[in-house]
Amino acid sequence: MSRDALAPDTEHNVVRSETSIDIDGFRKRELTGEIRFCSCGRPAMNIDEIPHRKYCDQR
Ligand SMILES: [Zn+2]
Repeated sequence: MSRDALAPDTEHNVVRSETSIDIDGFRKRELTGEIRFCSCGRPAMNIDEIPHRKYCDQR
């Protein structure tokens, strides 16, 4: 787990691309527009539609 995931206040949990522009359309470290609302780490555009992981206890 990265250090950012343990610091909820850091940039409001914004999601940055971890791959090159060829993979997901975003340059590496570029903001994707998604935010991580939950501890399970799943990013989402809408807080009402978080695709929680199976083990997540905040569903
Ligand atoms: Zn979750």
